[in-house]
Amino acid sequence: MIPCKHCRSYAINLNKSGRDDSEPDVCDVCYWRLKAVGLQADFDRLHTPRPFDDWHEDIGNVLWWSFPISEPPFSGTPHDDDYPFDFDDHSVGWVPLPDCDKIQEQWETAEKARKT
Ligand SMILES: [Zn+2]
Repeated sequence: MIPCKHCRSYAINLNKSGRDDSEPDVCDVCYWRLKAVGLQADFDRLHTPRPFDDWHEDIGNVLWWSFPISEPPFSGTPHDDDYPFDFDDHSVGWVPLPDCDKIQEQWETAEKARKT
């Protein structure tokens, strides 16, 4: 048995209490703390608006919001024909789209759970 690489605890219980078998060298407390930190980072990434000038073509499609928010966002890029804002409108910002790979993974996990 090995201790947690972060806190030296031996409370490593893979595949128990909702835990999977990832991070086998981390105790249960550190596992859930790391998971929460990651979820918080994802949340912040998706909810922190960026100014127009931070967008570039490599980023691709994002959600464009006019602030203060009173309308649904535009999904796309400023190069789209239907981009609804002026390019010099500083009240427009964007947030990234959710990670489609994570959405797919969540869908498949939920599907498995529904079938069992
Ligand atoms: Zn630990």
